[in-house]
Amino acid sequence: MSEKPEHFIDENGIRLDGRRVDEIRPMKIEIGVLSRADGSCYLEWGNNKILAAVYGPRELHPRRLQRPNEAFVRYRYNMAAFSVEDRIRPGPSRRSTEISKVSGEAFEPVIMIQYYPGAVIDVMTEVLQADAGTRTAAINAATLALADAGIPMKGLVAACAVGKVDGQLVLDLNKPEDNYGDADLPIAMTQDGEITLLQMDGHLTPEEFKAALEMAKKGCEQIFEIQREALMSRYGDIEVVPVAEKEEKDSEESVDVLEEQGEKVENLDEEELTDEEIVEPEAESDSEDSEESTTNAETEEDEGEKDEQ
Ligand code: ADP
Repeated sequence: MSEKPEHFIDENGIRLDGRRVDEIRPMKIEIGVLSRADGSCYLEWGNNKILAAVYGPRELHPRRLQRPNEAFVRYRYNMAAFSVEDRIRPGPSRRSTEISKVSGEAFEPVIMIQYYPGAVIDVMTEVLQADAGTRTAAINAATLALADAGIPMKGLVAACAVGKVDGQLVLDLNKPEDNYGDADLPIAMTQDGEITLLQMDGHLTPEEFKAALEMAKKGCEQIFEIQREALMSRYGDIEVVPVAEKEEKDSEESVDVLEEQGEKVENLDEEELTDEEIVEPEAESDSEDSEESTTNAETEEDEGEKDEQ
């Protein structure tokens, strides 16, 4: 682990990685990267690399875990053994179990779980490379994987952390700020501003806490915009038509297609066909075929004879 820096913010208000205090790290998103998942997303946030996959809704086994009136959102947060500097032990840990639980709950107010009683919606997030803020990055990726899977949701969920270094609040902690900072406050919220995850490490005064919430809200608003753009670039050209209108449009379209085909057939009849285009009647072509095959047989026989000679 690198040593504690003397200062995290310089006299111009710039952090060690060149960001201002209220700036998030650059985010790169690719939706629909896994063909076997119902929905998926690959997300890079600074040096974090996260893969999220969604499976379902599907029947939950064992059945005793089924919820009779709603779906169960089963969220898994996992760090790959190679995701950190020193290899970490594969499999669940206390940390990953806790993160999985609270992150799953962060989606409860938005996913329309009442549509799928007895079902499970599996949300799997894998941290391929970790560099502080992995639980928030995983939530941002999971939201897009859920949307990609077509899971009905009231809106998106975004997450980011606020921390405190050099006595100042900073948005989206980098690794040294996370390691040596005075506070770490990961937050997830819905587009309506409802907080769905809030954890805290370290100390903040009540005023700082209030200001931190405001800062997190601004961070999440930026992330919603990035998520929206990612969804638009993947699905933006798909026309959204209300069901009733769609049925009407489909029947109109099929009439159009039939009419178009009819026109083509008519045009074909009218066109003058050249001799080459005139197709021989089937019977004749059959006899031709048989002639041809006889010819071939003869040729083969001839060749056989030749071989013998
Ligand atoms: P988050 O990644 O959500 O900020 P933490 O604050 O617990 O969660 O972890 C901060 C960072 O510390 C992680 O992003 C990761 O880079 C590193 N880290 C976490 N757990 C381990 C571990 N078991 N071994 C090595 N590094 C870890």
